[in-house]
Amino acid sequence: MQKTNTKNEDIIIVGAGLAGSEAAFQCAQRGLKVSLFEMRNENPESLTPAHKTSLCAELVCSNSFRNSNPTTSAVGILQREMIACNSLIMKHAENNRLPAGSALAVDRNKFAASVNEEISKHPLINLQRKKIDDLPKNIPTIIATGPLTDSILASKIQKLTQQNNLAFFDAIAPLVYYESLDHSLLWKQSRYNKSFINNENLNNAEKENNVENDGDYINVPLDKNQYYEFINNIKNAETHPIHTWEKNTPYFEGCLPIEVMAERGVETLRFGPMKPVGLKNPNDENSRHNLYAVVQLRRDDQQGRLWNIVGFQTKMTYKEQIKILKTLPGFKNVEFARLGGLHRNTFVNAPQILNKFLTIKNQPNIKLAGQIVGVEGYLESAAIGLLAAIFAAQEILNQKNIMPPIQCALGALMTHVSGERKNKLSTKIPEYQPMNINFGLLPNLVENQTQKKEKIRGKEKKARLAEVAEKHFAQWQAEINTSA
Ligand SMILES: Cc1cc2nc3c(=O)[nH]c(=O)nc-3n(C[C@H](O)[C@H](O)[C@H](O)COP(=O)(O)OP(=O)(O)OC[C@H]3O[C@@H](n4cnc5c(N)ncnc54)[C@H](O)[C@@H]3O)c2cc1C
Repeated sequence: MQKTNTKNEDIIIVGAGLAGSEAAFQCAQRGLKVSLFEMRNENPESLTPAHKTSLCAELVCSNSFRNSNPTTSAVGILQREMIACNSLIMKHAENNRLPAGSALAVDRNKFAASVNEEISKHPLINLQRKKIDDLPKNIPTIIATGPLTDSILASKIQKLTQQNNLAFFDAIAPLVYYESLDHSLLWKQSRYNKSFINNENLNNAEKENNVENDGDYINVPLDKNQYYEFINNIKNAETHPIHTWEKNTPYFEGCLPIEVMAERGVETLRFGPMKPVGLKNPNDENSRHNLYAVVQLRRDDQQGRLWNIVGFQTKMTYKEQIKILKTLPGFKNVEFARLGGLHRNTFVNAPQILNKFLTIKNQPNIKLAGQIVGVEGYLESAAIGLLAAIFAAQEILNQKNIMPPIQCALGALMTHVSGERKNKLSTKIPEYQPMNINFGLLPNLVENQTQKKEKIRGKEKKARLAEVAEKHFAQWQAEINTSA
């Protein structure tokens, strides 16, 4: 990717979602002039099936960037690395944080509005509300148009890469209004009382709003009979029809609709999002015996008006969702701010069509970034946007491309995208499927024979992996800073 244009921009970025916004900011921070194109505008017809606003970096479903503890979660390690890279997305996520245990949940509107504002005001970023139908030629470009890439551009990418698009289904969980629930039947508690609020981590806005220190989740208790009846209702529910062109599209395992989980076995949900562990119902003295399953709701906005039913993504028809969810304790008069839904999700076979620095092999001026390269999740999408920008800037500024090492989360994610993981870890990867960051992507800890004998496991292993990641990440950062 050589610098070929000096008039209007150094780089074009298409799509101002999580990846595109991060990429634009990172390029601009490196002194590049950015033209950022986003098709969404004030006209509702310009929106994708999942976006509701024209704001940059809108979160289309959950309001969570997931676990932010690096010693227990690889997501936490990725967050830490992104913060160290001066990530735009992480900065605004932290600034708009809501109480959600160890998860980094945000007020979605404030988050997107503040990213939008920073992008719009940045002196080196020219945000243009325009749909791009053709792949730019000659000018360095990052395509970050996401899982709902407009069909015309998607077909151009498909044609260029001579690949059949791969796709899977992603589902959205319903949102309910706090005041419509009967709280006398529910209680607030974080699992094992691990409350974000208890960490004394509230921002000033939350302190001013008197966020209560009584647990971050609303819990809906179910006894054994209620649970089996609920599962039965889900199994018998009518679902949205699947179009013929979607017939062979698989589900993403990390985001299965509840009816698919219920079909897998009557106890599946009870060992998944409905697990009753780490909770005690204060309204029920025999809670230990009666709490067979639980539905959890997580705050979705700062005022605490909107609550997301955790893990309840679904493709049941709206009528069935309303009917079945109203049978839950405390839900008799529930009002929904949004019902669950299902969308097709498009991504390319990155190991085949991209080089290891995210450039399309047969079109060297174009990089792909975000979910479209086959990562899954807000954070991972933003992380790939960040890396695409770093690589693009290195090329434009005639610096050496340096890959983050596999031992850190950014590097581990890249080895998935580039297919390198298969070579480095000799892992058998059957087919290219979207991936969240997870400890399984990081290489085994064993560095010498003594450690081999020690067989570090569980929490200790995660903490060690986090330590190793930190060390290798710091080395990479020092290296790219030196070569800049
Ligand atoms: C329905 C659904 C639900 C999801 N739920 C979650 C969730 O709960 N948690 C989670 O972590 N991840 C979720 N994901 C996955 C993923 O994290 C998000 O889709 C994330 O937004 C991807 O980031 P991105 O930047 O790659 O794409 P996006 O954030 O979608 O950004 C792409 C941008 O490109 C624009 N665009 C598209 N085509 C064009 C064009 N031709 N010209 C100009 N602009 C264009 C779009 O308008 C959009 O703004 C979900 C995905 C979907 C589809």
